[in-house]
Amino acid sequence: MANSKGPTTEINYVYRGTFIHSTQQTPLQILEDEVLGVDTDGKIAFIGKAAELDSLSQTFGFSPSEVIQLAQHEFFMPGLVDTHIHAPQYSYAGTALDMPLLEWLNKYTFPVESRFKDLEFAQQVYSQVVKRTLRNGTTTACYFATIHTDASLLLAQIANDFGQRALVGKVCMDRNNSVKHYKETNQESQDETCRFIAELLNKKYPLVRPVVTPRFALSCTGALMGQLGAIAKNNNLHIQSHISENVEEVKLVKELFPESKSYTDVYHKHNLLTDKTVMAHGCYLSDEELALFRETGASLSHCPNSNISLCSGMLNVRNVLKHNVKLGLGTDVAGGYSASMLDAVRRTLDTSKVLTIQDPEYDTLTFEEVFRLATLGGSQALSLDDRTGNFEVGKDFDALRVNVAAADGPIDLIKIEEPKIILEKFLNLGDDRNIVEVFVAGRKVVPFTKQ
Ligand SMILES: [Zn+2]
Repeated sequence: MANSKGPTTEINYVYRGTFIHSTQQTPLQILEDEVLGVDTDGKIAFIGKAAELDSLSQTFGFSPSEVIQLAQHEFFMPGLVDTHIHAPQYSYAGTALDMPLLEWLNKYTFPVESRFKDLEFAQQVYSQVVKRTLRNGTTTACYFATIHTDASLLLAQIANDFGQRALVGKVCMDRNNSVKHYKETNQESQDETCRFIAELLNKKYPLVRPVVTPRFALSCTGALMGQLGAIAKNNNLHIQSHISENVEEVKLVKELFPESKSYTDVYHKHNLLTDKTVMAHGCYLSDEELALFRETGASLSHCPNSNISLCSGMLNVRNVLKHNVKLGLGTDVAGGYSASMLDAVRRTLDTSKVLTIQDPEYDTLTFEEVFRLATLGGSQALSLDDRTGNFEVGKDFDALRVNVAAADGPIDLIKIEEPKIILEKFLNLGDDRNIVEVFVAGRKVVPFTKQ
């Protein structure tokens, strides 16, 4: 019997072909010659064997002749989830990778981010980053914006207009000694965060939500972090920040917060670790800190391109998984130079292999595991796995239609290959030319209808 949520919903469209996704039990489940129906709410109504097409069509009231057949070398996979990306930094992506984190922030990041008071500039950059990430298959993005409330609201509006699922954070920072005009007072940061949350929730965008965003412990006073923890709790909101990215940063946090046992404890003390918290990096977390992540339900975003590009460190993903800490992947544009989650997949594999070169006993990640981290893992890290992340009946249809043999694409297929090989080729060699359609909550958002 096909898996279905019952015939109460009206079917919008049905696809037939290969569907590849992950589940809690297995990193790679390949469903060949199956049919998947999406209802008018954008949710997966059923998925079953093509042999059951007739009975499914009767149960769900659609005509078998309307079923859309995928071509050979095509498959559907869940949309990619970018758990950590700085939208304003997209303006200098691919440059400025010549210094470590703290110098990099002062020299490049803060001066650029301070320009986003200008809404015209923000409009231009934010439209480009939303379009670029969608085209590359990012159906869900967890964005940092800047300290500017109106520009942050604009980013949320643009994500909504293009149909991307997004968490958008107005950045909070009441400490910044290097670029003095790019910071807020404690009161401004609280007031503007509350205004941002209220105005964004008031828009009632179906797929875009605010996320409380202290930049990181070095940019925020303890007082501000505590207030932001309370704001997140009172509004039941997501929280995002950075943790343990670079050795120098970890040392300074220790000096600045001597009363805390660890970097993780700094956030924990200020009520910033919840089961809706995602922290980027975590390269230098101790086992004790990982246990605290596990206990609080907070998650990590692994951003390997950024970690390598800024010579920050290498996350031991295997150890994070061993501690049962929720983990997703992030591009961390523009510390990471690529906005594509396919790049995040490749750098995750590279980093894992470097760890194996250093220690042959290290259990290298498989591409199947990394595929899961980029999809289901990301949705879990953002606590959105009840809505998205794989092809479970009742979840929103967030999906990429991939054609590995796209005419002007980067992949040459020498012979007909099995789906697992095709997926591996796409993950390692593919790009946006292979992503022929992108769906978010059942709506086709790529190719674009809006310019
Ligand atoms: Zn970051």
